[in-house]
Amino acid sequence: MNDLYFAYCQGDVLLTREGNIPFGDTPPVEFQPWEHVTDILYASHSVHIYHLDRPVTGHPDLQMMGLRKTFEILSPEMYSLAGKCAELVYWDQNSKYCGCCGAPMKWHTEISKHCTECGKELWPQLATAIIVRVTRSVPNPNESSLLSPLSTLYQEEILLVHAHNFRTGYFGLVAGFVETGETLEECVRREVWEETHLRVKNIRYFASQPWPYPAGLMVGFTAEYESGELQLQRSELGGGGWFRKDNLPIIPNRSSLARWLIDDWLKSMDNV
Ligand SMILES: [Zn+2]
Repeated sequence: MNDLYFAYCQGDVLLTREGNIPFGDTPPVEFQPWEHVTDILYASHSVHIYHLDRPVTGHPDLQMMGLRKTFEILSPEMYSLAGKCAELVYWDQNSKYCGCCGAPMKWHTEISKHCTECGKELWPQLATAIIVRVTRSVPNPNESSLLSPLSTLYQEEILLVHAHNFRTGYFGLVAGFVETGETLEECVRREVWEETHLRVKNIRYFASQPWPYPAGLMVGFTAEYESGELQLQRSELGGGGWFRKDNLPIIPNRSSLARWLIDDWLKSMDNV
């Protein structure tokens, strides 16, 4: 069975020229012993993970590519595995020493370390964040006739925001990290309130997604507008508002849970 080689350098992952994860019985390049992070098993493949000192450049058969971009060319399984391995590399880099006694940490199992002095065990930590699609129904100004069917008297709107930390000019959904001692639903209410001064109701779980940038889990929800006037949190948001399906701004690409939530909303209106 072919082994898989996941090698990372500064957020980029090593791929073949054809856009695959390198595989075979021998490594695609000569890795240094200290560049090896750990090995895991994936569907009977041995997966070898490396953190490179410097990127592989000028190689006839290999290329480096940003992890996010690999979504467009890798299979869903390989993109997901590339994310997991990237998280293990990140965790390895950030768990060199014990948080209790300061002694070096050593790999113990495939996905855990223990302290060489006090024995403290450590597993990769996830930063959990919620993301929520808030929608509302408003009277349709173009359909005021009493004879109009009910479905056209109201129109659906979605709350989209542009955060300062978004990489490009697109609009996404309200999102934020879960705080200690908070339920996911409380986090949804708090984040919507902090970012927009709106109250929401009917919070429902939608789906989740590993988010390896650098080590997160996104938990997606839907919710309905309940009350309040939109007032954006200017420290975090550069813009935002209510949008209809026919006046959407640029929205996130298909790799993100935000987009799945938006697409699901658009699809729900096709069925009306
Ligand atoms: Zn220790």
